[in-house]
Amino acid sequence: MKHSNISIFVPHVGCPHKCAFCDQRTITGEQSLPHGEDVRAVCEKALREVPSPADTEIAFFGGSFTAIPRDYMTELLGAAGKFVGPGLFRGIRVSTRPDYIDEEVLGILKDCGTVAVELGAQSMSEKVLRANERGHTAGDVIRAAKLIRAAGLELGLQMMIGLYESEEQDEQETFDALMELGPDTLRLYPTVVIKGTRLAELFEKGVYRTKGLDYAVGLCAGFLRTAEERGTRVIKCGLHASEFVERDMAGGYYHPAFRELCEGLIYRREIEKALDKAGITGGRAEVLVEPGSVSKAVGQKKANTEYFARRGIGIKVRASGGVRKYSCLIRTGNG
Ligand code: SF4
Repeated sequence: MKHSNISIFVPHVGCPHKCAFCDQRTITGEQSLPHGEDVRAVCEKALREVPSPADTEIAFFGGSFTAIPRDYMTELLGAAGKFVGPGLFRGIRVSTRPDYIDEEVLGILKDCGTVAVELGAQSMSEKVLRANERGHTAGDVIRAAKLIRAAGLELGLQMMIGLYESEEQDEQETFDALMELGPDTLRLYPTVVIKGTRLAELFEKGVYRTKGLDYAVGLCAGFLRTAEERGTRVIKCGLHASEFVERDMAGGYYHPAFRELCEGLIYRREIEKALDKAGITGGRAEVLVEPGSVSKAVGQKKANTEYFARRGIGIKVRASGGVRKYSCLIRTGNG
């Protein structure tokens, strides 16, 4: 089921870590700390404006929610919890680090109406976790994921692509290991180098080299498709477009329409396979895709139609009921 969120950002406060890539204030695009009364005001306003509160979650994002001072965490949770229940919002969603999850904190979260916990796993390679100064292990991710599941909460996992010292094999192994944990949701974040971070220092010295946007799009296209086919909702693919990121980035894998690029590539690969299978090497072909995915199949700025035109094939994409997501049917001639 698809849910929407009202997002409340809780910046870096209290997080004792300094991951190589993190400048949390820039990523959340928010500087000040919300308090209980801010949460109440946001929830009251959203209750009046959101069309379907029962399908909406109050989401605390931005930092490591369970690592913030306990009094502050319970102040925010308590304020949000009053807006959870019949006629109100569906529940609370939080994101946090894997090493700040235990049974006690899960009990507090549940008592206040939390329904989903997202873990910033980022990588399942110990080498990559160390190189990026995450301060937790892959084992912490597995342990926390199991505890979240055992508590009956929805499990979300977050993965970063293209981190320092992460090779293609590390990315694939990380994705496979995360999928093994059976997440309900997944967020795929290509690494963006934010000025002033340790990663930016390494980047500017040429020690950390990125591999180009196509590399990240190629990997994420595969991950997005596989995850969705296995029933995991990919609720983010690419960093949230924001003026703060565009202003403060020094490099990395950023595009304001990153997900569209990935979806376009999934369709390009699929159309290519279908054309090859049909033995079409030139002329015209009609490509049928599910309604709602025509623009994805055409590609961002018509990238796919132009790609096939360069191969000598003029494709016309049309919507057709009965075609599965990310699949296509080819029709040639007048049919
Ligand atoms: S744990 Fe999260 S908030 Fe803390 S430094 Fe790392 S990425 Fe930033």
